[in-house]
Amino acid sequence: MVNTTSINQYQCPGCKADMAFDPDLGQLKCSYCGRTEAMPNVTATKLRATLQEHDLATFIETNRTHLAQLATTAQEVTCPGCQATITFEPPDVAGKCPFCTTSIVAQKSHPADPTLAPSALVPFKVGRKVAVTNLREWLAFRWDWKDLKAIFLPGQLKQLAQNQALTGVYLPFWTYDAQTQSHYQGQRGTYYYVTKQTKEGTERVRKTRWLHASGRVSRFFDDVLVPATRAIDSKKLQRLWPSLPVSQLKPYSAEYLAGFQAQRYEIMVKEGYEQAKGMMANIIRGDIRTDIGGDQQRIRSVSTTYSQETFKHILLPVWMASYRYGGKTYQVMINAQTGVIMGERPVAAWKVGLAVAIATIILIMVILVTNG
Ligand SMILES: [Zn+2]
Ligand SMILES: [Zn+2]
Repeated sequence: MVNTTSINQYQCPGCKADMAFDPDLGQLKCSYCGRTEAMPNVTATKLRATLQEHDLATFIETNRTHLAQLATTAQEVTCPGCQATITFEPPDVAGKCPFCTTSIVAQKSHPADPTLAPSALVPFKVGRKVAVTNLREWLAFRWDWKDLKAIFLPGQLKQLAQNQALTGVYLPFWTYDAQTQSHYQGQRGTYYYVTKQTKEGTERVRKTRWLHASGRVSRFFDDVLVPATRAIDSKKLQRLWPSLPVSQLKPYSAEYLAGFQAQRYEIMVKEGYEQAKGMMANIIRGDIRTDIGGDQQRIRSVSTTYSQETFKHILLPVWMASYRYGGKTYQVMINAQTGVIMGERPVAAWKVGLAVAIATIILIMVILVTNG
């Protein structure tokens, strides 16, 4: 378990200004005098210890173990727009909600409620500068026919590519492990061919012979990653983080949050596990199809038992830019470890209208000219 009670504010030992985690350096840096401080040293033993899994059954029964504050000085606000609870370190303030753009400056913050302490996190690796560059590129006008939409981007979207529009947020995730044993009943289909007489001659027709099939498959699932936030569509997050970057994990330490925000998990351990089971079920069905073999498979029933069920709470870094356009909220996010961007771009209706009008005029002129 991570003990965060000894951590206070990150004052620069030189000038007493506040320090923040610098993704480019991977260290704390004083924005005033430039002094840097190394992050806590991570030995292999320490990493192993903090990455230890929590037993799921024990946790759900006792439910109150492992609770701690993210950091003693952490403040928390709940966004009135989307209900996301955002944690930040003073002197940082939560300005606009990074998920839905609602202004939350006026909301009264309070010391962060104890939460299930994250065992690990992936630190920000992509700095603000690189994130802004990537965002500009993504928004840039391009003569790319595959990406025709970019031409019709609303002008105000370009403002997104300003430094202040990006917020660095640590998003909450659960990862689950489980040993599964599945018993299945189904059918194996084997193709065979018959020759049919038709008016034109003979024709070879494929048929399927179905035979009963049943058996067992087992699989150990390691680190099934489930987003614990409701502020962002989980399908998008799964594309942004398809799997847990295990080699990038660092034991949780509040220093990494200096200068960033963090979101508190909204999906609880148990609910997240149900989602993980759904993801496991898809893979198990694939295993069953392989086990049945043949040319086609039918799965009639599957019953799975789970053992060695464990979980971890981790934080992953994302640069968020949300904006409102035409009464709708759009989110753009950048995986702050890989730099990959995911987002929606609305098209400006007036630009589409203009393009259609120009095309129509050209068409009419062409018709007039060709008709003499
Ligand atoms: Zn300083
Ligand atoms: Zn919000």
